[in-house]
Amino acid sequence: MAMTGIEIFKLLPKTNCKDCGFPTCLAFAMALASGKTELAKCPHVSEDAKAKLAESSAPPIRTVQIGTGDKAFKTGGELVLFRHEKTFYNPTGLAVLVTDTMDEAEVKGKVERAEKLVYERVGLMLEPNLVACKCASGDPAKFEAFVKKVKAMTSRNLILMAENMAALKAAAVAIKDAKPLLYAATAANADEAAALAKETGCPLAVKGSSLEEVASVTEKLGKAGLKDLVIDTGARDLKSLLRDQVAVRRLALEKKFAPLGYPTITFPCEMTSDPMMETLYASTMINKYGGIVVLSDFQGHSLFPLLVKRLNIFTDPQRPMATKEGIYEINSPNENSPVLITTNFSLTYFIVSGEIESSRVPSYLLILNTEGLSVMTAWAAGKFAADAIGIFVKKCGIADKVKTKRLIIPGYAAGMSGELEEELPGWEILIGPREAAHIPPFLRERYAQ
Ligand code: SF4
Repeated sequence: MAMTGIEIFKLLPKTNCKDCGFPTCLAFAMALASGKTELAKCPHVSEDAKAKLAESSAPPIRTVQIGTGDKAFKTGGELVLFRHEKTFYNPTGLAVLVTDTMDEAEVKGKVERAEKLVYERVGLMLEPNLVACKCASGDPAKFEAFVKKVKAMTSRNLILMAENMAALKAAAVAIKDAKPLLYAATAANADEAAALAKETGCPLAVKGSSLEEVASVTEKLGKAGLKDLVIDTGARDLKSLLRDQVAVRRLALEKKFAPLGYPTITFPCEMTSDPMMETLYASTMINKYGGIVVLSDFQGHSLFPLLVKRLNIFTDPQRPMATKEGIYEINSPNENSPVLITTNFSLTYFIVSGEIESSRVPSYLLILNTEGLSVMTAWAAGKFAADAIGIFVKKCGIADKVKTKRLIIPGYAAGMSGELEEELPGWEILIGPREAAHIPPFLRERYAQ
């Protein structure tokens, strides 16, 4: 049973030391009770109190890890229904399905695409996460060999899917150190699946034909000591799936209904044979609480929009995405290259650096830390002001890299040019274009060799 704020408060040190970021222990207790903070934020809780608070402090949706090491995939751990209430934490995992009856070339193509389709955007690497290996043959030896082969081909984490428990066991035991997700325990095989998950230490998916059935199986597995579970409600049409996804999230968060307090796995690949519809279903699942989305294939034209969508949904809405302050070299600049400056709002940086790159003019781009604000906002807030730019230009070391000291500022910040000349004696201040799209002709006109 979840504890109330007052019950939690009684177990805290009551020193009001503020180390947790809250003004009092009571405020911290209230926030903990409503899932708005974590117990780990208080470094002074006794071990005894920690044990007692474990249930209350655990996220209402368990965080489940698939795989090991740096590339391990985490799902669940969410605290809110809507991202604007706080943020979503663990991005939906995108998986591709391969089966042991597919021909070798098809498997190779799908696994290779899962490996190679990686995109860089706003300084982040966007990539799929998992390969789901399904036993379609029913043959344990064939499935085991297939899984070993796929594992050797990919660095992605694995999901092992088999209705035949002997096949699931053969493959799971063979690669248990990779900690794949085992799919799936059902009402019929729960004991056997639980034994396999315990033996291998792997997370386990639970499949049911309704929320009630799933909840009864997770409850049974929970009593058997299994906590790393992932839920498949069995829905294979969009309306039912969406209804189930929302119900699972609401029951877990609002009613603290522990049997459904797990991340979900969904299968757009089993819902349609139309690749476009499959992508749309996957997109819906990224929006609405899908922990893992299994697709029949990854193709750049459908995967990239899903990855960008996922990035947008799982970005903290209260924290602007920012690039590191510093000097960025574009197109191999030299001592005669122009120097441009802009803010560290990621989108600004990537648009401006992309335009400079496309101009083919070797340039230096200075990025000033404006706490992730764009040029206009940062200027209005005084964070992209002449004094801040002056200090940064002097200390960043760009003066040692160029002979001609000429600084190009964004057209929108033209009003500060006079003040900037005073801040940077010896530098010529040039007003650049207002729109990034006009940077290439601006640079080519002046600096093309
Ligand atoms: Fe209280 Fe712990 Fe927060 Fe200090 S860090 S105020 S002891 S809850």
